[in-house]
Amino acid sequence: MTLIGLDDTDSRERGMCTTYLAVRIAERVRAAGGAVERLVLARLNPAIEHKTRGNAALCVHTDLAADDSFAIAHEAVDALAATDDPRTHPGIVVAPGDKAPVSVVGFSRRAVRERLSLDEAEGCIESAGYRHSGWGNSRGVIGALAAVGAWGAFDDPTYEHISYREAQRRGTPREVDFDSLVAAADWGYPAAWDTVDRGEGAMVCVPHAPGPILHGVRGDDPRTVKAVAERIESEPVERVGLFVTNQGTDAHLRDGTIGTCTDGHAYRLDGRVSNPPATRRGGHVFFELERNRTLRCAAFEPTKRFRERVRSLRAGDALTVCGEVSDGTLKLEKFAVRDLVTTERVVPSCPDCGCSMESAGRGQGYRCRDCETSAPGKVERPVERDLEIGWYEVPPCARRHIAKPLVRGGFDAPTHPER
Ligand code: ATP
Repeated sequence: MTLIGLDDTDSRERGMCTTYLAVRIAERVRAAGGAVERLVLARLNPAIEHKTRGNAALCVHTDLAADDSFAIAHEAVDALAATDDPRTHPGIVVAPGDKAPVSVVGFSRRAVRERLSLDEAEGCIESAGYRHSGWGNSRGVIGALAAVGAWGAFDDPTYEHISYREAQRRGTPREVDFDSLVAAADWGYPAAWDTVDRGEGAMVCVPHAPGPILHGVRGDDPRTVKAVAERIESEPVERVGLFVTNQGTDAHLRDGTIGTCTDGHAYRLDGRVSNPPATRRGGHVFFELERNRTLRCAAFEPTKRFRERVRSLRAGDALTVCGEVSDGTLKLEKFAVRDLVTTERVVPSCPDCGCSMESAGRGQGYRCRDCETSAPGKVERPVERDLEIGWYEVPPCARRHIAKPLVRGGFDAPTHPER
């Protein structure tokens, strides 16, 4: 077995896509007499700011000899990658052997949660005895090595079936029939998820950026994602690729505490709402969560109806929040309500006239002057809550590639999935 890792072949303007390059390399491998066992699509740390879009890295698993595989990958990057874009820095790493060693699998796990250096990647490549090549500043070698270790690092593999556009159509509006897409999404749900956003009426599986992808259907099993894709009516499909991925797994999240979390990482954190939600300019919603220290949490405008859930929070609610911390603010991807405040202390009403009483003076309770009634202090009143215990999430249109949709299950409390 040979593992061909590649990354950073894409450009924002030119619209290549590393998944497409992997499919083309797989075709060249087959043409050279090799078999392709699988295509791996690894989503790496979403906090890396020099990513083009979704921080994807790819790996082709084949039985072709390592030297032949290296020659094919090198030639394909030269021919197809957007190497003329100064922000594109492709890298390939070719690894002989069935399984990546523990050091490379560990590198891959860390690449999903941390920022790693090219020096470390090159050291790891040298100890493992792999061949590699870089273009530009060679930054893509980091992702390419992480792609080589990815299959060993996946705890919960998911699938994506990608359909590509004909070359002459790229850059023009995509022709995908909305009704057939919604019907296909309904047919495949819940094994296929995030295909559409019913609330927003959005075709989530159809990208907006220029590039060769027509649509990508994601889900738990390979047969369902393929069958959903085949049910979508659209412009002609040039070629397809099936990828095994870490998308929809929450692999980027680590358990942390408000006191120790730092920028550039994504966490699961517990705390109580200390400052209630407020909507600011642009429709972004912010609140503060506290446990020894406070942390600002945000639901930005693109998270759409999720903001209603966030606005329903009250001071005192106990939560687990998930998301990336940047500039000292956690960008919410999902949260679990652990405990809801169900009463509030209010000024008592007069038992005779029903009006709100007024203060009788400091420490002297409340009274109604007209009826001459009194009460010793504030009283508890039940509050209506439109949240329940359990997990809430952003809608499919706002999902990060690596974030786990609630419909996939395995959460530690009831779930309220969006679809
Ligand atoms: P593409 O389709 O080209 O892969 P992308 O959105 O996946 O687009 P890239 O253009 O690949 O983004 O840019 C990501 C860059 O960041 C790559 O050079 C990759 O090697 C590097 N990178 C990825 N993960 C990490 C990490 N954890 N630490 C440091 N660098 C990383």
